[in-house]
Amino acid sequence: MTKFVFCTGGVVSSVGKGVAAASIARILKSRGISVSIQKLDPYLNVDAGTMSPYQHGEVFVTEDGSETDLDLGHYERFIDQNLTSSSNVTTGQVYSAVIASERRGDYLGSTVQIIPHITDEIKRRVFQVAQESGAEVVIVEVGGTVGDIEGLPFIEALRQMHSDIGHDDLLYVHVTLLPRLAVTGEFKTKPTQHSVKELRGMGIQPDFILLRADAPLSDGIRAKVSLFCDVDESAVIPLVSAETMYEVPLIMEQAGLGDLIMEKFNLPKAKPDLEEWRRVVERIKHPERRISIGLVGKYVELVDAYMSVREALYHAGAHFNVGVDIKWVESELLPENAEHLLKGVDGIVVPGGFGYRGFEGKMVAARHARENEIPFLGLCLGLQVMVVEFARSVAGLEGANSTEFDALTPHPVIDLLPEQRQVYHKGGTMRLGSYPCRLVSGTRAAHAYGQDVVSERHRHRFELNNRYWEPLRSRGLVASGLLEGADLVEIVELQNHPWMVATQFHPEFQSRPNRPHPLFLGLLSAALERSDRNTTSAAAQ
Ligand code: GLN
Repeated sequence: MTKFVFCTGGVVSSVGKGVAAASIARILKSRGISVSIQKLDPYLNVDAGTMSPYQHGEVFVTEDGSETDLDLGHYERFIDQNLTSSSNVTTGQVYSAVIASERRGDYLGSTVQIIPHITDEIKRRVFQVAQESGAEVVIVEVGGTVGDIEGLPFIEALRQMHSDIGHDDLLYVHVTLLPRLAVTGEFKTKPTQHSVKELRGMGIQPDFILLRADAPLSDGIRAKVSLFCDVDESAVIPLVSAETMYEVPLIMEQAGLGDLIMEKFNLPKAKPDLEEWRRVVERIKHPERRISIGLVGKYVELVDAYMSVREALYHAGAHFNVGVDIKWVESELLPENAEHLLKGVDGIVVPGGFGYRGFEGKMVAARHARENEIPFLGLCLGLQVMVVEFARSVAGLEGANSTEFDALTPHPVIDLLPEQRQVYHKGGTMRLGSYPCRLVSGTRAAHAYGQDVVSERHRHRFELNNRYWEPLRSRGLVASGLLEGADLVEIVELQNHPWMVATQFHPEFQSRPNRPHPLFLGLLSAALERSDRNTTSAAAQ
């Protein structure tokens, strides 16, 4: 019988509920418990794929090709497990399914209503994760904040599960923010009290309250929350802002949350094995040295947009015991200021993206990396940028472009995939999910991976146009990875350059704190060499 941990949020959104849910999963998994995680997103979009990063941060892609909420990225990184499309449920999916059933006649004779039809469909999807994963404990996070109109059916479904499966096999965790008054430095518990009251009004009494705070809390605060919210004092857990999110499981463990959950679920007491995790956290917090990597994007004011790329850089940094200082470079500013904006970086990453804005600036970054022998990693659009820049500057293909940006370009070096030509609907129709890629031996990419065939996740409509491969190849562009069994180029690299590699897929989605991605390791290793060389030559002068 699977047990469930339901996580809700109160007071404000973006309080770190996703990291909290992922951390709970981590501390349970560290006790040898098998876990899975699911996010319930109350918006009407069927998936996160149609939303701008301004709305929603990064769109995370699962192995099976679902475009999901970025919290799934946290989940995968924290539990070191691949999740599937079942792990992200939206209102859009639930309503589409119920309305399709209604049209089929599955409910003939009945009035179709939010309770029970919508709530039943939500519960079916929660149980589906339990069934598909076979996990002993499934953690379910509800997006948004308690009291949001859109979240009501989800909260109601989770309430019903209390009577469906009984209280021994489920528990409710409520994550709130404790604001602090600047003048007195005093923490205020009232918003938490209100949000718990609201949750109780919907029939849910939390078993645990996690209090996000920006400084350590006194026991008095915990006692007060315990009294007003009717939760054991030991179950009021302070989550003081951490230096790195990977510290949160350690903070929870320290506060005894792991043992309390095990006790509540009547699971045997077990000592968690968090040694490896602790080592990674230690290295992230206290690296031996630092390195600067330029990340060139158009959403620099919005760090969430490149969440997995940022994390993949940190993971690789931890492997080398190096702290990665990410220099966020706004691509639109690059054409005028490349020297200045990219000064001092030992590596450059151009991540994925859509739309023309910032594209020319990203090409300036690629040219800068190519001409100055700065290690470079291009991801998806980053590959397309590198290829277009190379085509124009080195292969003499004047006006070369991607047809995404110039439908009438004389040299469409990047073009729609053939199967994309018939696609008219935008939602869920890109080339999505994992495909096998065969590495070409002797290349930098093959060296980095140390494998013949790898599987990587995609999310794009455009691809390198093979008609242009010959002029590009003859000038020094190397195909280092091909779609297994086909001649689609998935990885390119530059011959006469220390390390300039780009992928049509998104390697960042598979990087884990304990298993950094080989290509990010490759980039950092080249960047470190460059930094060492620069230090040595500066010392010699
Ligand atoms: N816009 C490009 C395409 O659709 C790249 C997509 C991406 O970077 N994820 O092919």
